[in-house]
Amino acid sequence: MKALMKAKAEEGIWMVDTSRPAIGPNDVLIKVKRTAICGTDMHIYNWDAWAQKTIPVPMTVGHEFSGEIVEIGSEVHLEHFNMKIGDRVSAEGHVTCGYCRNCRAGQRHLCRNTVGVGVNRPGSFAEYVSVPAFNVYKLPADISDDMGAIFDPYGNATHTALAYDLVGEDVLITGAGPIGIMAAAIARFVGARHVVITDVNDYRLELAEKMGATCAVNVTKKPLRDVMNDLGMTEGFDIGLEMSGVPTAFESMLDTMNHGGKIAMLGIMPNGAGIDWDKVIFKGLEIKGIYGRRMFETWYKMGAMLQAGLDLSPIVTHRFSINDYQKGFDVMGSGQSGKVILEW
Ligand code: NAD
Ligand code: ZN
Repeated sequence: MKALMKAKAEEGIWMVDTSRPAIGPNDVLIKVKRTAICGTDMHIYNWDAWAQKTIPVPMTVGHEFSGEIVEIGSEVHLEHFNMKIGDRVSAEGHVTCGYCRNCRAGQRHLCRNTVGVGVNRPGSFAEYVSVPAFNVYKLPADISDDMGAIFDPYGNATHTALAYDLVGEDVLITGAGPIGIMAAAIARFVGARHVVITDVNDYRLELAEKMGATCAVNVTKKPLRDVMNDLGMTEGFDIGLEMSGVPTAFESMLDTMNHGGKIAMLGIMPNGAGIDWDKVIFKGLEIKGIYGRRMFETWYKMGAMLQAGLDLSPIVTHRFSINDYQKGFDVMGSGQSGKVILEW
């Protein structure tokens, strides 16, 4: 089969011929129809320090996808999942151990032995990908292949946005990447009042406004405080969703949170990023780290929110044939995009 592989320990990604992934007794083989490019894939493409220490070469990359079940392992009983061969599916890319304390408690997103599809095991930039049957999510008939292909980042947005009650609250989202923008749409959908999103990229801020943010702020042009005054916010934000991974953005969040505010942190900060702990302590802030998606509570909520009318379709801004993958990586790298989908 054809696959996009990190074939060399240098910048880039290469289309190669390789064998179909093996399926173990508990796995299913999925024929990939759509696969999306994630920020993680850009780190791997750019071969930054994180990628160099994490990714074994060669490795088939990619973990955001939708496709069709074509083959199952000897121990798989699809009927237990109300599925059958030929079903349209997406899948959770975190493969968890099943026997650690958290897995056994049904808290699989906290598994200490998580293995990542397209990071530690072959991924979805390929004609076929193999994952444990347990990880598969059957796409309802009214959810498109495109949406199915972005359930992974949509799941990060959902897990973070639903970490705290947003009804009637004023929400600050730092970072209007694809995940921040989807979180803004979710926050409005579930009933937040003001949803203010910050970035330094006008293209993305415009997209965020189109998708439901009440106010999109380019922090290089306008101080956040001015925006709060315009909105008549005298006390501060009730809920913060950190989705930039940029320390100065997080500092501005700590500055503008109301006392007793709650922050869910998804963005991955650089090593050693420091904060003013006085803000956390004297404001009595609550901060919660968010990793991945809840298995599979987040997935059920995602499907249900789309069926209830949440419209995320504008987040897919570019689509290319897999043979034009280089164009996809270029536009993703330029920052002038939402989600970029590659089609087989
Ligand atoms: P992204 O890199 O596309 O988005 C980050 C955005 O932050 C960019 O649009 C960037 O312009 C913006 N930004 C830069 N400086 C800023 C500033 N000073 N103020 C506000 N915004 C600023 O990333 P993404 O794919 O949307 O993911 C969001 C974050 O979540 C990233 O840090 C990513 O690594 C992280 N992430 C974490 C998990 C997890 O499980 N914890 C999963 C996926 C992604
Ligand atoms: Zn585990």
